Amino acid sequence: MSYTIALDFEDGATRFIKCKDTESVVDAAYRQGINIPMDCREGACAACKCRVESGSYALGDYIDDALSADEAAQGYALACQMRPTSDCVVRIPADSSVCNTRQESYTANIREVRRLSDSTFSLVLQGEALRQLLFLPGQYANLQVPGDGAHHRAYSFSSMAPGGDTASFLIRNVPGGRMSGFLADRAQAGDPIALSGPFGSFYLRPIQRPVLMLAGGTGLAPFLAMLDKVVAAGGSPHPIHLIYGVNSDGDVVETERLEAFARLIPNFSFAVCVVDEDSRHARKGYVMQHIEPAHLNDGEVDIYLCGPPPMVEAVARHLREIDVKSASFHYEKFAASAA
Ligand SMILES: Cc1cc2nc3c(=O)[nH]c(=O)nc-3n(C[C@H](O)[C@H](O)[C@H](O)COP(=O)(O)OP(=O)(O)OC[C@H]3O[C@@H](n4cnc5c(N)ncnc54)[C@H](O)[C@@H]3O)c2cc1C
Repeated sequence: MSYTIALDFEDGATRFIKCKDTESVVDAAYRQGINIPMDCREGACAACKCRVESGSYALGDYIDDALSADEAAQGYALACQMRPTSDCVVRIPADSSVCNTRQESYTANIREVRRLSDSTFSLVLQGEALRQLLFLPGQYANLQVPGDGAHHRAYSFSSMAPGGDTASFLIRNVPGGRMSGFLADRAQAGDPIALSGPFGSFYLRPIQRPVLMLAGGTGLAPFLAMLDKVVAAGGSPHPIHLIYGVNSDGDVVETERLEAFARLIPNFSFAVCVVDEDSRHARKGYVMQHIEPAHLNDGEVDIYLCGPPPMVEAVARHLREIDVKSASFHYEKFAASAA
């Protein structure tokens, strides 16, 4: 049995797909050239959470962290698990341009690997093929680990130069990690590297109110791309405040770039905070300790949060505890790849 599913996107576009009762909405959409943003495809990450406006369906298998009983009761579902049992209208929390952007594979070459600190690499790829790689600021690519079979790792673009022949990334040096080991020991300028993308629904929406950006470690990367985009757009109509938190002074990178953004975007400000009590930085502690009432603007704020899963979960929990109801809330967890 096959049903008609109307996919309603954030930008108002609607696309119709046919979905068999035996396949997930994500798979049916993909078959018909639409990439609904998703990460795990296993009902675990919640990246494909959508709201079913009408129709009946089976929710499929998922974990409670990805979809709570309350959300399920309110009509939310995970598109990677949901199977229709009638025609449905499904609201996809993403712009149609993201979903229509085909995820392609590219080969580029390493232009530069630089150690910004003991804990962080900057990787710049270059290649004619990259001119075709369009993405929204905040999205990520999957990079294949060179010389290591089919292993790939997700990395957010850390700069935005649409139509250019380069792509940049900010990469944490994870001791013993496959990609980290490659970058630390073997990577040479000119090495080929395969990548695919773009992926993800963590991208900068039109700025219609103040924006609060919360970054943990290399979770700074997507914000650098977003701020590039703001500069290219000639600035922001509303204040943007970034709080960038790391564990120790050695993890603080790209502050010169942040200072440059502060010069180029008059209503952009940022604060760096470091967990280590012996830090030379004035602000100690975690990101959430440096969120001020003014940043939250009585809830009339768009919040973007990115970093390692424990940081994202702690900040999200804190915002719930202090009962912040922001106009919108977007997050990306830099989850480790499955072994
Ligand atoms: C959507 C998305 C976007 C991402 N974007 C970025 C990005 O822009 N920059 C970035 O640095 N990372 C990013 N990541 C994480 C990245 O994909 C890799 O997981 C990470 O770089 C480790 O890869 P590796 O090959 O070096 O280590 P692996 O070989 O994957 O891991 C080696 C060991 O270290 C553990 N491990 C992996 N990561 C961590 C960690 N953070 N803390 C502690 N232990 C860990 C693993 O479980 C494993 O046991 C992103 C992840 C996702 C899902």
